[in-house]
Amino acid sequence: MMAFYSVSALTRPIMGSRRSLFCLSRLKTSNALIAINTIRNNSSSTASAASPLSTSYAKDAVGLPTLGGPTKNNNEQNTPSIWPLQRLTTAALLRTIFLSRLFTSPKLSSFGLKLLQGITNSHQPFLDPDRNWLLNRILRAVIYNNFCSGAEPLEIRRTLASIKNVGYAGVILTYAREIVVNHLGEDNLDSDQVAAQQIQQWLDGNMQTLSMIDPGDYLAIKYTGAGGRVASALTTGEKPPKQFQEAMDKLCQQAQAQGSRIIVDAEQQAYQSTIDEWTVDVMRKYNRGKEALVLNTYQSYLKASRKIIRDHLARAQKEGWTLGIKVVRGAYISNDIRERIHDTKAETDASYNGIAHDLLVRSFDGITRKDFPKIQLFLAGHNADSIHKAAQLHRDLTLQGLNPGALEFGQLHGMADHVSGELLAYIDSLRESKGPFGKQGALGHEAIPRAYKCATWGTVRECLGFLTRRAVENQGAAERLQDGLAEAKRELKARIFRTPR
Ligand SMILES: Cc1cc2nc3c(=O)[nH]c(=O)nc-3n(C[C@H](O)[C@H](O)[C@H](O)COP(=O)(O)OP(=O)(O)OC[C@H]3O[C@@H](n4cnc5c(N)ncnc54)[C@H](O)[C@@H]3O)c2cc1C
Repeated sequence: MMAFYSVSALTRPIMGSRRSLFCLSRLKTSNALIAINTIRNNSSSTASAASPLSTSYAKDAVGLPTLGGPTKNNNEQNTPSIWPLQRLTTAALLRTIFLSRLFTSPKLSSFGLKLLQGITNSHQPFLDPDRNWLLNRILRAVIYNNFCSGAEPLEIRRTLASIKNVGYAGVILTYAREIVVNHLGEDNLDSDQVAAQQIQQWLDGNMQTLSMIDPGDYLAIKYTGAGGRVASALTTGEKPPKQFQEAMDKLCQQAQAQGSRIIVDAEQQAYQSTIDEWTVDVMRKYNRGKEALVLNTYQSYLKASRKIIRDHLARAQKEGWTLGIKVVRGAYISNDIRERIHDTKAETDASYNGIAHDLLVRSFDGITRKDFPKIQLFLAGHNADSIHKAAQLHRDLTLQGLNPGALEFGQLHGMADHVSGELLAYIDSLRESKGPFGKQGALGHEAIPRAYKCATWGTVRECLGFLTRRAVENQGAAERLQDGLAEAKRELKARIFRTPR
């Protein structure tokens, strides 16, 4: 009863709007609830994904595409005419509108978040979505299908193929199983058998993840997912358990053999300094080739983030290996040690942008271009300003012959699709431009940035922690959601009225 009530409350923003109802009926969907229930990540029910894409983009004074902001010689012809959500399926577009409406309503989103947290922290079997069929269906329809790629290989592969089909260079796939600090102690840390089983399950899950991705794709891993013994070693700063080290070796060797790469995710601060240490050891061992096999994640919201990166740069330089760097802002602000995190959002933004800038220009707190180690840079995030700044700088440094190296961007599946769409349009535009970046140009493949989507897989229960973080994150991203909502409505209108592009 309660569950039905909450679904109808959540769907009201869509069903209540006359215009939305009109849109839905034009899309031959009998009612809004069915529309939401039939939304699937792998939907192929749209023509737009297959249609030619508009990549007309703002040009600068030398005729090259620019990303974001006014163009230097802005005029009628140079005004961007991109449709960033043109690549989204109609199902995903409707889902974006529904979730944006949900998250931009303070009452609905805080009710939804409380409900999600209640389910996540509950030990009642009837609140376990992997046991309660109805709860499972509701969570899938409302939130899971938007952010997660599925629970079964076939479903996941379809989602990954649909991501690549719209132009992403590849995917980052991650298995959702994780534990959080509060749950430490529930596992029997003394039992060798339990610890061995947990590490084995983690290895199997990640091996399965690797089996679903292609060369060039990433596997993203969370160390804490390997269970209580590993999490305990992470908090005390011990060396990794031997079985865990062997599991890491197997993952690295498999990734190397199939041409994929591995990203180690950053987690809560209780674990992070040891995660850094263990990952430096893995990078030292495996990042010896032309490209980094393993990337570590750096949370720029931490006041210490620059110091940590500088230390790792110095070690990579001294020991002769490639430092794989994924930069994020940080996802644990609501449940982590606040004093260690920048006091304001503006400071975190400056930290993120500053790190990206200094890594691209190869001058970082005293480590200059001359002594800079080989790095591989991946900027993860949905902040359009940060993406614009980094893409622009990368382009300008490349033009100046300063070789900033490869630059990769990543956004989460189901988040900020209008930002990702704009980035894809920019990349296409650069590739199709006449001049050094285009097909006839002299610049190598590193001159053009690459865009990835990060997809999470697992059962609904396994994905709850991940989904709760996405819900918290969306609550604090009202401005971006409003932009996304406006863009999604514009796109939907264009599809309904078949507006020429
Ligand atoms: C591909 C990908 C992989 C990711 N992997 C990880 C990971 O391994 N580990 C991890 O921790 N996160 C990870 N994240 C999440 C990331 O850290 C951010 O939480 C998320 O991307 C939102 O930040 P943003 O950069 O997109 O932009 P924005 O929405 O502009 O920034 C929001 C972020 O700013 C920071 N912030 C907000 N308010 C304040 C404040 N008052 N004071 C200081 N800082 C504030 C927080 O970090 C918040 O998440 C990943 C994100 C992506 C896209």
